[in-house]
Amino acid sequence: MRTKKYVQTASYGEWEGGSDMDCARCGKSISEPRLWIHIVNGGDAMLHRDDEGQSVDDVGDPRMCVVGPECTKAIGSNFITEDV
Ligand SMILES: [Zn+2]
Repeated sequence: MRTKKYVQTASYGEWEGGSDMDCARCGKSISEPRLWIHIVNGGDAMLHRDDEGQSVDDVGDPRMCVVGPECTKAIGSNFITEDV
C-alpha cells in the first residue's frame, strides 16, 4: 500500500488544543470537519486514499484524523478522504 510521511507543521504545538477537531497537520481548530487523513504505521505515515481497502490493523493503531482545507495542498489530495 502507498503511504506518505506524516508531518506536523513547526507551529503545530502553538495551535493544538487537545481536541479531536484540530487539524492533524497544523493543529488549528476546524469548525466543519469533512476532510480526513488515515494515519498508519504508528503515526508515521498517511495512507493513500485508493489503498484504503489494503489497510490492516497493525501495531500502529490506524486511525482517521481530520485536517483543514488550508492543509490539503501540502498533504496532497491523494491522501485525503472527503465527506460527501
Ligand atoms: Zn491544517
